[in-house]
Amino acid sequence: MVENPFFAPSELPYRLPPFAQVREEHYLPAFERGMAEQLREVREITDDPEPPTFANTIEALESSGQVLRRVSTVFLTIASSDATDEIRRIETEILPRLTKHGDAIRLDRDLYARIRRVVTDVPEEAWLLEKYRVDFVRAGADLSEPEQDRLRELNEELTRLSTSFTQNLLASSTDSALVVEDPASLDGLPESTIKALEKDGRYVLPLFNHTNQPALAELTDRETRRRLYELSVGRAPENLPLAARMAELRAERAALLGYPSHAAYTVADQTAKTVDAVEEMLGRLVGPAVANARREAEALGREAGFPLEPWDWSFYAERVRKTDYDFDGGDLRPYFELDRVLHDGIFHAAGELYGITFTVREDLVGYHPDVRVHEVFDADGSPMGLFLFDPYARPSKRGGAWMNSLVRQSHLLDERPVVINNLNITKPAEGPTLLTFDEVNTAFHEFGHALHGLFSDVRFPLVSGTGVPRDFVEYPSQVNEMWATWPSILANFARHHETGEPVPAELLERMRAAERFNQGFATVEYLAATLLDWAWHKLPAGETVEDAEAFEAAALERAGIAYDLVRTRYRTSYFAHIFTAGVGGYSAGYYSYIWSEVLDAESVGWFEENGGLRRENGDHFRSTLLSVGGSRDVMGAFRAFRGHDPRIEPLLERRGLQA
Ligand SMILES: [Zn+2]
Repeated sequence: MVENPFFAPSELPYRLPPFAQVREEHYLPAFERGMAEQLREVREITDDPEPPTFANTIEALESSGQVLRRVSTVFLTIASSDATDEIRRIETEILPRLTKHGDAIRLDRDLYARIRRVVTDVPEEAWLLEKYRVDFVRAGADLSEPEQDRLRELNEELTRLSTSFTQNLLASSTDSALVVEDPASLDGLPESTIKALEKDGRYVLPLFNHTNQPALAELTDRETRRRLYELSVGRAPENLPLAARMAELRAERAALLGYPSHAAYTVADQTAKTVDAVEEMLGRLVGPAVANARREAEALGREAGFPLEPWDWSFYAERVRKTDYDFDGGDLRPYFELDRVLHDGIFHAAGELYGITFTVREDLVGYHPDVRVHEVFDADGSPMGLFLFDPYARPSKRGGAWMNSLVRQSHLLDERPVVINNLNITKPAEGPTLLTFDEVNTAFHEFGHALHGLFSDVRFPLVSGTGVPRDFVEYPSQVNEMWATWPSILANFARHHETGEPVPAELLERMRAAERFNQGFATVEYLAATLLDWAWHKLPAGETVEDAEAFEAAALERAGIAYDLVRTRYRTSYFAHIFTAGVGGYSAGYYSYIWSEVLDAESVGWFEENGGLRRENGDHFRSTLLSVGGSRDVMGAFRAFRGHDPRIEPLLERRGLQA
C-alpha cells in the first residue's frame, strides 16, 4: 500500500508535489486529515499557558495546516487544469466543508482574543499581525454569537449557490452550442475547424465564456452570426435568480460586518479603499470610451454599407483591419512558434532584465504529459525555484490563462517558490505550435505573475509573491507584456518557423497600427462588465431583485455605458468572475484590471524613460516591488519603484481616452 502522498512533505526538489503518485482517492482523506490537524494546531495555540507572543501565535498560525495546504494546492490546480467528473464531484463535496473550516478558525473567540494581545516592534511582523487582525474582523470575529451564526449560514448558502452557478455554466457551453446541419452556414471558418466541429452529421460550435464569440469575426453568413450571438447572450438563464440571490446575501453579510454594501466591504481591504475612489476613476473612462466605440462603429458601418447589428461588429472590424490597415492577424502566426516564444522571448527577456537563467528538468513531471518543468537560477547561479508551463487547451481545462503557486516562497518554512502558468493554446495534430499575437501577449502576461512568485523574498507565506491586494496583483503581469513587442526581444524570438527569417518590420508596423483600432470596443465591453459587477454589489441590504435581466439593463443605462452595439463582456448569467469561487472571486473586483493598468502604464513610462531593457532597471523593479510581495504597503512599494504617486494620464493616453 502506497501511503497518501499528501500526508508527508514532498521529497522532490523544491518540494514539487509528487504528481505521479497522486490518485483521486487520496484527496478526501487528505482534506479530512488536513482540516482536523489544523483545528488541533489552533487548539494548541489557544491552550498555550504562555502569554501570547508573535512566535507562539502568529508564526504558529502561519506554520499550521501543512497537510491541508498541500492537498488544497494540488486539488485546486487539477480542478482547473485537468479535471475529471470525479474531481468535480469531490469539488462539490469539499468546497462547503472548506468554507466551514475557514469560519471555524476565524470565528474562534479564544484565538481572536489571543491575536489581539500580541505585541511586536519588528516592522515585518507588525505588518503581518495587523493583517491577521483585519482578516479576522472582516471574517466576523468581532460579531455577537447570533450574528456569527447568521454569518455561517450566509457563507454556506453562498458557497452552495456558487457551485450551482458554476455547474449550470459548464452545462450551458454545450447545451447552448450552435448546431447547424449544413456546413455552408459555417463559411469563413477554416476548413480544418469545420471538420473538427462535425458530430454525427451535424456541426456543433461550443460557446466561449464571454459574450463576443471569436467565430463572429469569420462567419460570412449573417444569419449564422445572429444565431450564435443570441445563443451567447441568452445562455444559462437559470443562473439569473441565483445571481440575484447571491447579491442579496452578500449585501446582508456586508451589513452584518458594518458596511453599506458588498462593494464598500470589498474595496476597504484593497488599494482603492473606497467606493468613491473606484467610481471617480470609472467616471473618467466611460464617456470617452463610448465616444471611441461610436466612432469605430461609423467606420464599420461604412464598410458594411448597412446599419450594423451587434453580431456584425467583429466581422466588419476584421474587414476594416484588412482594408484600412492591410493587416490580417494570421500573417504573424508563422513567426510565433511556441518554444521560441518561451525560450527566446519570455526567458530571454527575463535574462536580460534580471540575469536569471532556465534549464528544462526532464526528470521532473507535472500532472499531465504536456506540462514542462523548468528550474530557475538567479544571476549568481544559485537555484531559485521551479517554473511549470502548461500551454495547451484540453476539454478537462477551464478557459482563459492564469498563474498559480504550487509552493509559496517563505523563509519561515524554508521554502522556495514553485509556480505554474496555464494557457489555452490549441495543440496542433502535428507540426509546430504557432501562436497569434494575442496568445504571445498572454504568455508574457502570465509570466509576469510567475516572476512575482519567483522573486518573492519574504519571511511569511501569507504575504509572499502574489499575496497582494487583488486590485494590485495584475500590475506586475501587465508590465511584463511590454517586452513582447520590445524590438530586441521581438527580433530574438519572432522568426519564421520554416525559414528562420525575422518578422518583417513593416508587418509589425501594420500590426501596431491595427492594434490601436477597436480599442473603443475592447474598453466599452470591459467597462460595461465592471459597472455591472459594481451595480450588483452596491445593493443595500434588504433589497431584493426580482428580474435580474431588467436590473442589468437599468444598471448599464444608469452608468452611461449602455450601447446596443457593444454589450458587456459578461452578462449576469455567465459572469463567472463575480458569481463563482473558481476564477478567483472577483465580486466587486472586476474593476481591478483597469485599476492596475494605471500603475502598469506609469511603469512602462518609467522603463522607457530609463533606457528600457537594462539589468539595472530590472533589478530596481525586482528589489523595490517584485521581491516584497505583500509584506508591506504595496502602494509604498510602487512609490519606491516609480518615485511618485500614480497618475491616470499615461493610461488615458494609451487607451486613446483623453478628454
Ligand atoms: Zn493576470
